[in-house]
Amino acid sequence: MRRMTRRVRVGDVIIGGGAPVVVQGMTKTRTTDVAATVRQIEQMAREGCRLVRLAIPDREAVDALREIRRLSPLPLVADVHFDYRLALACLDWVDKLRINPGNLGGEARLRQVCRAVAQRGIPLRVGVNAGSLERDLLRRHGGPTPEALVASALRAARLAEEEGVEQLVLSAKASSAQDTIRAYRLLAENTEWPLHVGVTAAGPLFEGLVRSALALGTLLQQGIGDTLRVSLTADPRWEIRAAYWILEAAGVGGRGVVIISCPTCGRCPSARVRRLAREVKRRLADLTVALRVAVMGCAVNGPGEAREADVGLALADDGAWLFERGRLICRVRGGDMVEELCARARQLAKSGGG
Ligand code: SF4
Repeated sequence: MRRMTRRVRVGDVIIGGGAPVVVQGMTKTRTTDVAATVRQIEQMAREGCRLVRLAIPDREAVDALREIRRLSPLPLVADVHFDYRLALACLDWVDKLRINPGNLGGEARLRQVCRAVAQRGIPLRVGVNAGSLERDLLRRHGGPTPEALVASALRAARLAEEEGVEQLVLSAKASSAQDTIRAYRLLAENTEWPLHVGVTAAGPLFEGLVRSALALGTLLQQGIGDTLRVSLTADPRWEIRAAYWILEAAGVGGRGVVIISCPTCGRCPSARVRRLAREVKRRLADLTVALRVAVMGCAVNGPGEAREADVGLALADDGAWLFERGRLICRVRGGDMVEELCARARQLAKSGGG
């Protein structure tokens, strides 16, 4: 069961309070390059991203926000480190601010930023990372432990509440899956604010995906997590796709077609299944409704193994069996099978998907 959290509004997006888990991303362009940044935001929006964060490393980036806000299809989150003046300067142009309490220059500056956020009435994310914890907490906990991460997030959240901030989102990211899971469990026990879950510096596409899937999948299955970002050293579109794969696998969301295909064995040449799976995915790439489409190498175990698929093919020598939700429907000829499968998938998508 989803953990019930308080409701936070970022532009037209709701985080927490029982709302569906929000997928967010972060641009990787120079924020001052407005055209490239807006292009990347649009690309992520097309993949289903609902909220986008931008790095604000200097004044020029603050200046660029005005135009980016005008052109962006998504609500914007400013990501500010080190310089509290940049945090103050960008508030008029964003829907949410993310700060890291460990690197903003001490309590007085943190309070000043919180007061300005409260005045502006936008939400604040207190985003704690293992790499930049306050010194006193590192000393007390003997390093950047999950307990230290949580102590930092809760302390900054209290301080923000004291300064009148009424909408908070908390995160406490470590780079290992185990520490991330432990930190968020602890955080969930100690706050009602919605949680932004993620693994920091998770790695390149495959390694990062595995680490993120383990940590975020575990948390989501325990009902923890109101918004997520998958951090990958890869094109940001992969971060959005990966986020939906993780949501789908954890059984709490998903978007578009997920292919279920068998690993193949001596009963079917693997190249045939690979080629068909690729073809089906390509032809159904425009669907946004969550749908599981199977491509199985044979009818011996095919429909049974892919029982949870909405629709699928089980290959035979001269064609395939078409099945829907575990039931064989009809036999299709080789040349027609992808056509038939895609038509049925589209029909199901029209009626609401899986
Ligand atoms: S579905 Fe058929 S071809 Fe694929 S792994 Fe199972 S038995 Fe082998």
